[in-house]
Amino acid sequence: MVNIVIFGPPGSGKGTQSQKIIEKYGYTHISTGELLRKEITTGSKLGHQVKDIIGRGDLVSDNLIIDILEKEFNRLRDVPGVIFDGFPRTTQQAQELKKILNKRGTAVSVMLSLEVEQNELIKRLLARKAISGRQDDNMVVIENRLVIYADRTAPVVEFYRKAGKLSIIDGSGSVDDIFTQIDNVLQNLSKQTAQ
Ligand code: AMP
Repeated sequence: MVNIVIFGPPGSGKGTQSQKIIEKYGYTHISTGELLRKEITTGSKLGHQVKDIIGRGDLVSDNLIIDILEKEFNRLRDVPGVIFDGFPRTTQQAQELKKILNKRGTAVSVMLSLEVEQNELIKRLLARKAISGRQDDNMVVIENRLVIYADRTAPVVEFYRKAGKLSIIDGSGSVDDIFTQIDNVLQNLSKQTAQ
C-alpha cells in the first residue's frame, strides 16, 4: 500500500495535485480540512467545537485531529494507496501517523513537499476565495495561517527528511508541470516497491 503525505503551505496546491494523483492512480484522499468543514456544514457537535478555530486560521488540537484521522483511516479497506492532505501538521501528528500506519503493517512511502513563494501563495488564496467561499481565505486569516505554518507545520519536513522520505517539489509552475514532477516521484516509487 502506498501512503503519500502531500505537504506544503496553504495555497501550495495540495488539493489540486491530490485530484491529479487520484485521476491517474486511483488512490484514496484523506483531507483533514475537508473532514472538518463537513462537520461544520452538518452542524455536528464537533463542527461547533472547531468552527471558530478554523475561522481564525489556528490549528485544532492534536488529540482531536489524530482521533478523526485514525477513524477515517481505519474505515478504509483494500485500497491501493492513500493521500494524506493537511495531515500531519505538527511533529506530534507525524509521530502518531507513524503509529497508526504501523498498526496496519504499513508506513509513509513519501512526503511530497510543495514549495511556493509567500507572495504567490497569498495571490492564489485570495483568488481561491471567490470560488471556494472559504471563511478562512481572507487576508487577516491568511496571514495567521502562514505564520502558524512557518512555526508549527514547516518543522514536520525535518521529520520526513530524517526518515529519508522527503521529496521536494517546485510548486510554482503550472498545474501540469507540478504534476509531472510528482508523477516522476510516484513512478519511481512503484518501481522500487515492484523490486
Ligand atoms: P486545510 O483545508 O487543510 O487548509 O485546513 C483548514 C483548517 O482546518 C486549518 O487551517 C486548521 O484550522 C484545520 N486543520 C486541518 N487539518 C488540521 C490538522 N492536521 N491539524 C490541526 N488543524 C487542522
